[in-house]
Amino acid sequence: MAQNGQNTTEQYYRPPIVTVMGHVDHGKTSILDAIRHTNVQEKEYGGITQHIGAYQIEHNSKKITFIDTPGHAAFSNMRARGGKAADIVILVVAANEGVMPQTKESIMHAKAAGVPIIVAINKMDTAGADPNKVKQELASENVLVEDWGGDIVSVPVSAKTGEGLSNLLDAVIALSEIMEIKADPAGELEATIIESRLDAKRGVTVSAVIRNGTICVGQDVSASGYEARVRSLMNDKGEMLKNAGPSTPVEVLGFNKVPNVGDILVEKGSELAELAIDENRVEIVGKNAKRTVAVVVRADTQGTLEAVKAGLANLVTESVGNTFALKFLLTATGDITDSDVLLAHNAKGVVVGFDVRVTPAINDLADNLKVPVKTYKTIYELVDDMKVLLQGTAFDVESKIKGRAQILKIFRLSSGDIVAGCKVLAGALKEGGRISIYDKNPADVKKDDEPLYTGTIRKLKKGKDEIALVGKDNECGVLLKPIFEGIAEGQWIEVR
Ligand code: GDP
Repeated sequence: MAQNGQNTTEQYYRPPIVTVMGHVDHGKTSILDAIRHTNVQEKEYGGITQHIGAYQIEHNSKKITFIDTPGHAAFSNMRARGGKAADIVILVVAANEGVMPQTKESIMHAKAAGVPIIVAINKMDTAGADPNKVKQELASENVLVEDWGGDIVSVPVSAKTGEGLSNLLDAVIALSEIMEIKADPAGELEATIIESRLDAKRGVTVSAVIRNGTICVGQDVSASGYEARVRSLMNDKGEMLKNAGPSTPVEVLGFNKVPNVGDILVEKGSELAELAIDENRVEIVGKNAKRTVAVVVRADTQGTLEAVKAGLANLVTESVGNTFALKFLLTATGDITDSDVLLAHNAKGVVVGFDVRVTPAINDLADNLKVPVKTYKTIYELVDDMKVLLQGTAFDVESKIKGRAQILKIFRLSSGDIVAGCKVLAGALKEGGRISIYDKNPADVKKDDEPLYTGTIRKLKKGKDEIALVGKDNECGVLLKPIFEGIAEGQWIEVR
């Protein structure tokens, strides 16, 4: 994204910005910690190591900036609005476990953002380490490492013993040199926000990595539509700076409101700010296809949204004989709304969501209009499901009311158990099923209405007998785990 200022500015090499992704427990945090500890001297420059969401190290006199926002945030914000957060992804795969669901998601994120991957095969010190199996599994995900005829570098490492970490850094430097990552310190300011929060003592703190230009104390900046005058800048070594240039991680004070992680921070009035808000276009992937499938895509963050879109677009490009095209009616962050369902209905399309909520009321609307609405917790499940749909098989349009019952009477037993006598009005209740309880008909539940209770059905009873399932129009006794003291007649149970 160092393309700002096109012809009038000079471009200089800047250190690569690297993010570490991979399945939970495969060692992302351990690798980041190990790299930081061996390459940054504590109290360097008289400062003290600060955790500001990113840090910079020096390896063989070359600088590398690591984003160390752990877990989900790193995923979701991989792709910031209007720009990529990182230049290089280190994909961590545990040698003793191999490719797992979040490994696949990380691959999709990296591909969606067009960011090259370096594979770190971690936990090489463990007995079960099998790097060849990892490489083979990666090949099935179209990540071809050098042994497999590809050009993706893989480095065996152990965060525990430190083995291979220096090679990993070598690989980062080598790749960054091929990539010719450049920026203009005198160019237009563009920084990616990697953390932001309201600190009780210090006010709003915003951590950002500068991608282009220079941020200065006293400068007027904006992010997420909020403006601020930069009051102070601190780097990851705890040094107070007057200004910071490309690839520097900084903590910025001066905002009154908390801007969004993943958004870009720019100079006030910059045209780049406009670029930052560019959702909601109708886009068509795949032309001259025999069939077009219209889809509304919702995701929890801009980063995952991009990954979902890219995953779906891949389906189209991989389809043989130009069989189908995808029409994105709307791609946006946030929970699924009535209007998403209506939009999909008008276009005879579907609504898919990643890690977003659908209220029972919206499910009912979708049911009435026969609009398939499905939400997913993993991107690959979403993509797999859409593949089936696109191949012409009907989307699984099971009733979206999985189960709904009204509580008719409460029985408090001497054992302390509470049994709710219920009538099942739609779908079915299942032993072990996850449910929510509302104080009104779930069909009338609005987006912001929180359930009174969420838990699971511990036991279902019909008379004295325990049963596994109760269908529509039947009565039953329900015992919950954990016990819900506030349970009362007239409340509603909705299966999640
Ligand atoms: P993350 O969830 O990917 O950030 O994983 P962590 O860094 O938290 O590591 C998960 C677990 O694996 C922790 O118990 C680590 O101590 C352990 N671990 C990480 N790297 C290694 C390694 O190279 N070798 C061994 N034996 N254990 C490791």
